[in-house]
Amino acid sequence: NVFPKNKISPFLKIDKKKKLSDLKNKISKIPCSLKETSTNLVFSNGNPESDVMVIGDVPGKEEDRTGKPFVGNSGKLIRLMLDCIDLNENNCYFSNLIFWRPPGNRSPNSEEIEICLPYTKIHIDIIKPKLLILLGGLTAKAILNTSKNITELVKLESFYQYSEKKIKTLVIFHPSFLINNPIEKKRTWFALSEISRTIKNE
Ligand code: URA
Repeated sequence: NVFPKNKISPFLKIDKKKKLSDLKNKISKIPCSLKETSTNLVFSNGNPESDVMVIGDVPGKEEDRTGKPFVGNSGKLIRLMLDCIDLNENNCYFSNLIFWRPPGNRSPNSEEIEICLPYTKIHIDIIKPKLLILLGGLTAKAILNTSKNITELVKLESFYQYSEKKIKTLVIFHPSFLINNPIEKKRTWFALSEISRTIKNE
């Protein structure tokens, strides 16, 4: 792990694995209409013992086909950027706010967000990251429960609060926006490298 922490007991690791598989099982049973139009439930990728959790918005076509988040074009871009600061599948955990691909890549509606959000929050609670990276306005607004827009959020220091704990949270533009806006790609890269430096020094 890039962010050193005390050795994790094997029992805690088993406990986390069990909690994650129970959560995935519960999610597979929630009554969300997106299940009918998608191929796979897209749950997570990467290392559950990581201190960094990255949360995107919705699975795309490739994610739906494979059942894995961040495997399509915009997923590859964010993974490439994270790789530049030594974050990868071995020391990062990836998931999405919404667990199924909306048909035709449309945005999820408020009902779909409302159904998935409590499970995403449980997901964060199980992983207990030290740093949360939220991709795009839709995800950031839902998870941080804010009406601020993405251009404000990317400039702010944010925290996500759960059970008495505050998690440092970095909001960045969604990779599909970054693909067409190279200037923001550069700024996002700087934001990522700065926050990774802070955590490494903690
Ligand atoms: N891939 C995902 O799974 N989620 C995103 O938000 C972007 C790409």
